[in-house]
This record gives sequence, C-alpha cells and structure tokens, in this order.
Amino acid sequence: MTRPQPATSSRARTGRLPWPVAAKVTRGLVLALLICVTWSTAQAETARLRVATRVVPPMVVEKNGTLGGFSIELWNSIGKRLNRETEYVVLPDVRELLDAVASGRADLAIAAISITSEREDRFDFSQPIMNSGLQVLVRGNAVNVAANPLRELMQLFFSRTLLIWLGVALLLILVPAHLMFLVERTHHSGIIPTRKYFPGIFHAMFWAAGTLATQADQMPRHWMARIVAVLWMFTGVVFVAFYTAQLTASLTVQQIKGPINGPQDLVGKTVGTTRGSTATAYLNELKTEVREYEKVDDLYHALLDQQVDAVVFDSPALLYFTTHDGRGLARTVGEVFHKEDYGIVFPMGSPLRKQVNEALLGLREGDTYQRIYEEWFGKR
Ligand code: GLU
Repeated sequence: MTRPQPATSSRARTGRLPWPVAAKVTRGLVLALLICVTWSTAQAETARLRVATRVVPPMVVEKNGTLGGFSIELWNSIGKRLNRETEYVVLPDVRELLDAVASGRADLAIAAISITSEREDRFDFSQPIMNSGLQVLVRGNAVNVAANPLRELMQLFFSRTLLIWLGVALLLILVPAHLMFLVERTHHSGIIPTRKYFPGIFHAMFWAAGTLATQADQMPRHWMARIVAVLWMFTGVVFVAFYTAQLTASLTVQQIKGPINGPQDLVGKTVGTTRGSTATAYLNELKTEVREYEKVDDLYHALLDQQVDAVVFDSPALLYFTTHDGRGLARTVGEVFHKEDYGIVFPMGSPLRKQVNEALLGLREGDTYQRIYEEWFGKR
C-alpha cells in the first residue's frame, strides 16, 4: 500500500520559479542594474574635476588664498559650460603639473603650459588657449641703462681678482724685502741706510715693490743680496705677465657683460627662469649659466637683487610684471623670440578633451573669451 503523497507546489517539485514570477524577478533585477549604472555614470559626470595649476601671474594669480587670473577664469567658464565642479590642486612648478596629470592625480592642468612637440608626445592638449613666447627681462628702466665707462673702470679697479692679486704681491714682497734688509743693512755701502727694523724694512719693501712692478732703481752691493735681486727680477717678469693676462681677461669679461638688448646678448650671462619650463630648455642650448627658480616671484626678486643678469620667461608674464609690481624696476628688451601657445593638458586619450574643446570654442564664439582676455591683458 502506498502512502498518500502530500500535495507539493510546482516550485518544490522542479526547484524553479513558475514562469511569470521568474520573468518579474529578472525584470526587477535588470531595472535595478540599470538604475545602478545610470546613477554611477551620473556620479562620475558630476564628480569634481581635479584641476592642477600653478601661480603664474597674470594667467594664475593668488590673492588671500583665492585663485584668479586669465587661465582660472577661463577654466571656470569652461567648467560651468560642462556643468562640472572644480577642485583646484596648486602645485609648485610646471613639471609637477605635468607629473600630476600623467599619474592621474589630476584630471587636467591649466596655467601657462606651453604646447610643445615633446609634451604632445606624452599628453593630449586642448586647442590653444592663448599665444605666448619667450622674452628677455632686465633690470632698470630705459633711462638709466646708458653705459658708464667710468663706473666700469672703477668696478674693475675694485674687482675681487684685482684685490687678490694685490694681496699676493704684498705677501710676495715681504720675502725679498727681509732678505735684502738682513744682508744689505750691514754692508758699508748697502742700499738699506739703517740697521733698525723700522724704517729699514720699508726701504727694503719699497725696493722690492719697485723691482716687481718696473725695474730695480738701485742694485744691492752684497753678493748674496745680488743673487736675491736677480731671482726677484725674474719673479717680477713672471708676475707681471700673469697679472696682465688676468687683467685682460677681466676686461674682456666686462666687455662681454655689456648691455643686454635681446636673446643674442645672453651668451656668457647668468640667466634666471623657472624650473622645468620651456625657457630652461631654450637657455640650456645657449652658452648661459642658467639659474632655475620654483616661484615666479622668486625669479623676479633674483633679477632685482642682482643674482642674475637677466630673466628669460613667458612674455605675457613679463609684460604683466613690468606694468605692475616691477614697474620702473625692470623692463623687457627685444622681441618675443620663441613663439609658443598655451594649452590645457590632459592624460593621453582623455574623453574630457573633446568636451573642453567644444566649450572653449563656444566661449571664443561668444564674447566670454574676449572679455576675460581683455580683463587681464587689455585690448588687443
Ligand atoms: N610656458 C612655460 C612652460 O610651459 C611656463 C613655465 C612655468 O609655469 O614656469 O614651460
């Protein structure tokens, strides 16, 4: 006899949901998934953009902890068009800006970043945001730069090299002067008239100095003193030869160090610029001594404090300096000689580039770009 089986549902029997239920669950899951995907995409779209920048007036200025300037205002307008919020990351120099973009610490960088073939190889750039180029900045205004030969001669007389040579000569003189004094003072017709140390040694020193610079006016009488005299005269010839060579070299350097009127006059000069900039690369090609500074402000101070003979940097920045903080203290000389364009930097293949370019072109087609440009650089 078989026991009656308890009634079971179809699910218990097959282990599967009945078709209409399964369809509903699947539909629910797909819907949830779709919501998740849309939500996360929307999140990504609205996530703050990390924008790396650095202070380079007037492209980027910082006042009381607030960023401003041409590039910042331009980016703020682009961000508004893209409907994205911005989180600025302020970094010390252009190399660090590029590193931040390369390593993904920033989504993009904007400041005064020149578009170069070498950088284009590693990054994506936006359309140019502004024309730029390099220029030379020197101390002073046009009025006080006339050459002053008298001042240059005085500078030579009191130069370090000259003082060192004089010191060496003085020390050298002491040796034959003492020998002469010791031997000649006891000789009955010797050239040292007294046995006393003072003023006897002064006589001997006068003789030694005269012999070194020109010719011996008196010949010693004692045979030992005569040997010293001959040796000393030879020393004099060598000394004068070296001294003349040194003086000629100093004069030549001073002539080379004449006024700077453009990039052609930079050879042999100490020139300042910012670290990792295109100007550094340019100056390294020339025969200049390059000093690199992190902050643009430090660069200008180095010029005014005479640590460098000239500054080579981005023309818009230099022109801004000469009309603001550096007014009357420094001036640009020569033409803009290394034309460059500024761009916004993205990592390779960034989907942002196209959106930013569209926004940028939109700003140029309207009057926003022009308004921001004129605010910082005046009417073109
Ligand atoms: N235009 C320069 C460059 O891109 C700027 C350098 C700087 O910000 O110091 O190299």
